[in-house]
Amino acid sequence: MILSKQKPWEEILGYLEGENSVFLLGCNGCAQASGTGGPEQVADMKSKLEEAGKKVTGTCVIDFLCEKALVKSKLRRKIEQIKEADSILVMTCGVGVQAVAAAINKVCHPACDTVNLGGSRGEWMGSERCMECGECLLEYTGGICPLTACTKGLINGQCGGASHGKCELNPEKDCGWELIYKRLKDLNKLDKLKKFIPPKDYGKMEPDIETMSTSRWALEQTGAKERVLE
Ligand code: SF4
Ligand code: SF4
Repeated sequence: MILSKQKPWEEILGYLEGENSVFLLGCNGCAQASGTGGPEQVADMKSKLEEAGKKVTGTCVIDFLCEKALVKSKLRRKIEQIKEADSILVMTCGVGVQAVAAAINKVCHPACDTVNLGGSRGEWMGSERCMECGECLLEYTGGICPLTACTKGLINGQCGGASHGKCELNPEKDCGWELIYKRLKDLNKLDKLKKFIPPKDYGKMEPDIETMSTSRWALEQTGAKERVLE
């Protein structure tokens, strides 16, 4: 389980500045369980965006947005609605947003921050990784996580040590920031690199009081203590 929380409304609306239309994508896996990206939240987001004057060209909720093959097969059926939109708002965790951004050549905005649960969790196998930093940066990096794609976890551009596209610390590994640059260039969004990202507040990795007050959180804690055969 990957725990996510929805970003503040003003932040989401800010991502859509200058755009008229958007396609909404939700996840019936962890995001549905987190109450951030299931059918109900996608319907709520659609109403709010329409009230804010945005055209929602279509919506889709997929079982696991972290599973690229599934994402590709489902989105093919929605391709006309996606083409009509300026971007996709992806309502799920950092892994899911990265998987969608890798699966389709379209600007993908993250609607959620992913929160750390302090350990491993079940998820679909894939190359995308999220450190659950609590303040998702995928809006500025073309849907590639700088904390996991860059060996040093740099958040404001590359270190300058890459050679032929490979990381200076690991020649077997692509330089994460070269991948980010190429993705942003493909999307015609190189201007995103002009934003300075302040040092991260890692305190945000922890679930907040509001999250820890939900019944979902209580169930998780109760479930964790229960054992079979006792
Ligand atoms: S920036 Fe990276 S680590 Fe942070 S929530 Fe997004 S995908 Fe996860
Ligand atoms: S070479 Fe690229 S991936 Fe490696 S540490 Fe530098 S910026 Fe990060």
